[in-house]
Amino acid sequence: MIISVASGKGGTGKTTIATNLALSLKNCQYVDCDVEEPNGYIFLRPQIQESKTVYLPVPHVHLEKCSFCGKCAEFCQFNALAVAKENILIFPELCHGCGGCMVICPNSAITEENRSIGVVEKGKASHLEFVQGKLNIGEPMATPVVRAVKDEIDEEKIAILDASPGTGCPVIETISGSDYCLLITEPTPFGLYDLQLAVEVMRNLRIPFGIIVNRWGEGDSQLEDYCLKENIPILLKIPFSRDIAMLYSKGIPLVQAHPHWKANFLKLFEGIEERLGEATHHH
Ligand code: SF4
Ligand code: SF4
Repeated sequence: MIISVASGKGGTGKTTIATNLALSLKNCQYVDCDVEEPNGYIFLRPQIQESKTVYLPVPHVHLEKCSFCGKCAEFCQFNALAVAKENILIFPELCHGCGGCMVICPNSAITEENRSIGVVEKGKASHLEFVQGKLNIGEPMATPVVRAVKDEIDEEKIAILDASPGTGCPVIETISGSDYCLLITEPTPFGLYDLQLAVEVMRNLRIPFGIIVNRWGEGDSQLEDYCLKENIPILLKIPFSRDIAMLYSKGIPLVQAHPHWKANFLKLFEGIEERLGEATHHH
């Protein structure tokens, strides 16, 4: 089963939920898909056992075969190629590695070469299997690294996917194919606005989802009114507390400091299972 953990905006405690849920389950895999800023490792302190480089193919033009016809540049919708009089400029950071220019070239003047854009790391954190992706600094192409991280999902396990904040391409890439998505939010007007965007994405992708409210008790009732009106389940509320904030700042998982929280996360998981069971039953 794949459960992804997302949030409309950063700083809502997404990693707290993802890591604590993973720590509360047996036979689980924690998969950090927030490749621009993975931070699950801070709480899980894994031992990395394996590391794989992620490559993206980029075109290499053999000028001696090129007639400078311009077809490759015309084809590339990302403007990663520009044809000058007797030269071709390639902008690797813009290239999505689709291979189209290579196919379209009438003179077979283009071959592919690999460009390293990040790394996938695998390891163990006590009983947990740990996977994370890291995008190279300054590298704009996050999605292929997310894809490489998702290749490591073990279907025999419960995979908890920690998405990037927001609703951009890397998030869509992370959550698509999930059985369920947890949306983490805060009970503030800003939190609600970003949540509404995330809800729209979930509905477009047709992924069943529920809400977890972090720092509950801080804001007003707007969030709860919204969820009631939209018929969105609130699955768990984590109260605002200095103690929880302090644990977070020290990189200590909540369930490790307060084992009784495990029961709450287990109940959360059982609730998801039940909802999914009902969903299959109805179809
Ligand atoms: S399509 Fe091929 S031949 Fe034409 S400009 Fe591009 S590389 Fe050169
Ligand atoms: S591989 Fe695709 S994205 Fe990259 S330069 Fe060629 S056409 Fe453009």
